[in-house]
Amino acid sequence: MAKFTYMILLVVMALLGACQSLGEVDKSPVADASPPLVILVHGGAGSVGPKGMSKKDQAAYRAALGLALDTGYAVLAKGGRSLDAVQAAIVTMENNPLFNAGKGAVFTAEGKNELDSSIMDGRNRNAGAVAGVTIVKNPILAARAVMDKSPHVMMARDGAEAFAKEQGLDIVPPSYFFTQKRWDQLERARARAKAKAALPASSHFGTVGAVALDADGHIAAGTSTGGMTYKRFGRIGDSPIIGAGTYASDLSCAVSATGWGEFFIRGTAARDICARVQWNHDDIQEAADLVLADLEDMGGTGGVLALTPKGTYAFFVYNTNDVPGRKNRRPE
Ligand code: ASP
Repeated sequence: MAKFTYMILLVVMALLGACQSLGEVDKSPVADASPPLVILVHGGAGSVGPKGMSKKDQAAYRAALGLALDTGYAVLAKGGRSLDAVQAAIVTMENNPLFNAGKGAVFTAEGKNELDSSIMDGRNRNAGAVAGVTIVKNPILAARAVMDKSPHVMMARDGAEAFAKEQGLDIVPPSYFFTQKRWDQLERARARAKAKAALPASSHFGTVGAVALDADGHIAAGTSTGGMTYKRFGRIGDSPIIGAGTYASDLSCAVSATGWGEFFIRGTAARDICARVQWNHDDIQEAADLVLADLEDMGGTGGVLALTPKGTYAFFVYNTNDVPGRKNRRPE
């Protein structure tokens, strides 16, 4: 199992573009009768290579991803559910200002933080999501509460916040989400908007997500984000939308996506990957590559993690252009 854990760690780094020199790893599940325990986490489809950030920042990202991985893995190792592992991993990243989720969420054009999150259980395709929340410390916990404690799948804005309060979740003042780094990003985005220049791709980096497989063979997925810097008019991205940014079904696969949300919504990306696996019996990597190539044709950028109940998985699937070591996985 130690080897498998190490492989998983590479996966963690892979989506952030840090493993360009690490090459391929064996993706076959461990060969024994019981399903392997698997957790994959991502911190967005940005760059942790030398071009993307300083050595110090790279180390901080790797440590934060490692903590998420260890936290989620500990749940699985104790016989816990993949759903709980995904949730636990995401909470650690929501609490870390490095990521565009929870504490480190980006700012809207009006200078607010509006957070989106969703979670899905592959066992029974139960799902929960919140969108546009401004005072919920951990949106992934609110998404989970929507799933477990209500008859609904998605709640938005003040309604979602009232529900989160009712459920006894941690409520924080909006100022909790202020970070200077994100504010500076907003100022730069405002300047670009004034100059009628396009926003940089990095305006949507740093979303977090996880997929996991537990000892009972069930998979789950979750995603959490602040969305895109300078988003306007109550814009909601793909992260809280089941089938776009998050999907999980034991019949096919679990997916957490990150990238330019509008394209993931239009392409129903997460479900499209799993539909290929379910109905076309595609290999998971091929399914993810094809769907990402399709999004790229539409003009979208981003990446996904995808995992099947057999323990096969796809990673390093992104088309974010400034990722060092980016591989062109477009199928021939
Ligand atoms: N997909 C997110 C959104 O569009 C942003 C991201 O993944 O970085 O809201």
